[in-house]
Amino acid sequence: MTALSFDRNTLDMRRGACPALSAPMQTGDGLLARVALVDVITPGQLAELCRLARRHGNGILDISARGNLQVRGLSEASAPLLDADVRALNLPPREGLAVETPPLAGMDDTEIADPRPIAEAIRQGARDILGLAPKMSVVVDGGGQLRLSDLLADIRLTAVSCDEGIHWTLLLGGTETTGRVFNVLRETEAISAALALVRKLGEKGPKARGRDLAAGLSTNHAPGRPASPFGTFRLSGDLFATGIGPAFGQASAETLMALCDEAERLGIQLLKPAFDHSLLFFGPQTVCEALTAFAGSNGFVTSPRDPRSAIAACPGSPACNSATVATHELGAKAAEECGDLLDGSFKLHVTGCPKGCAHPQPSALALCGTAAGLSLITHGKAADEPFASVAFADTNNSLRRIADLVRDERRAGENSAACLARLGPRRLAAAVTSGRS
Ligand code: SF4
Repeated sequence: MTALSFDRNTLDMRRGACPALSAPMQTGDGLLARVALVDVITPGQLAELCRLARRHGNGILDISARGNLQVRGLSEASAPLLDADVRALNLPPREGLAVETPPLAGMDDTEIADPRPIAEAIRQGARDILGLAPKMSVVVDGGGQLRLSDLLADIRLTAVSCDEGIHWTLLLGGTETTGRVFNVLRETEAISAALALVRKLGEKGPKARGRDLAAGLSTNHAPGRPASPFGTFRLSGDLFATGIGPAFGQASAETLMALCDEAERLGIQLLKPAFDHSLLFFGPQTVCEALTAFAGSNGFVTSPRDPRSAIAACPGSPACNSATVATHELGAKAAEECGDLLDGSFKLHVTGCPKGCAHPQPSALALCGTAAGLSLITHGKAADEPFASVAFADTNNSLRRIADLVRDERRAGENSAACLARLGPRRLAAAVTSGRS
């Protein structure tokens, strides 16, 4: 048995498993390997990874919603070669438990506390804990301009400043809004409590998740929506960051290499893949602005006002075997024709099947591919009861009717998510079926 076949058969062929670098996962366009990093890399290193994606895979790369790089289209023979070549790049790989911090951590004067020492202590402390769920994640969020509030986490620590100094709210399950409050603790207590919970989950086995320990706890108070990573951010000293992302989180190796080459030409030395399918490039303000202009003219998302940044689309057809729709085409059409609906107040979830990989949380509006056509769901997950089902050929018309309804019915100061919630499934269903013969 080869190392690859052992990994695939025993670890990562399950639904919900993470396609790590040495244990790639089968998808519709071959094996997919994930490169998860814990620190910045150079544009040259990303360009080299793109070359490897072309050599060993099908030349398509993803930046995932959690900011992991993914190489698509690998074969049984090429995946171990990619593994070896990526290791030779000397990237800072994430090993063991996923303990995530905001992408500007330690560089952002507006953060309450630098979360990285806590994250590292939890990472080290969890090294010998076995039996955890493959997708187990811990978020340590010190506040600042770019927060991880919308990412699901089994265990989350968020910094709060109070009269007694800095404390950490420990949440179980969900996002920052929906997680349950376990306790509010000082730094050392927070680390021990988080590790004790990780250990408890390990003892319960790989199906146990943070939410399973949350019975009887109250839900956290809802903060506002976190800022989008697209745009320019002022950091400590003269340093700036600019967030740039490929549409729907996917790009060809050539397109990403061109962006990296331009970044290098401009003198940018560091970048970091980040949440919402983004890459944050670091440098002086004028350099960041020049790279943003280059990226914008080459089809990348560079602003939270770009309606594509308000769409969460899974790879869809043909990249995934389970997909019944070409999600990226559908998303591009929605961005073109329903821009005012996509005002950033919610993520339009476009999914190739009810699994809903791109957006595991409920969404104000989800379009889900089925064998018969498309299900439309409001304020729910992809697998929830739809308020309407339409044939593939009627997809664009249906979306346009919803966008028209929201435009006509929107009250002063009301955003799209609130308007969709107020209209409810019946009005939305009526709008979708109007004009149908
Ligand atoms: S949600 Fe999309 S990527 Fe995930 S299994 Fe379904 S079609 Fe494939």
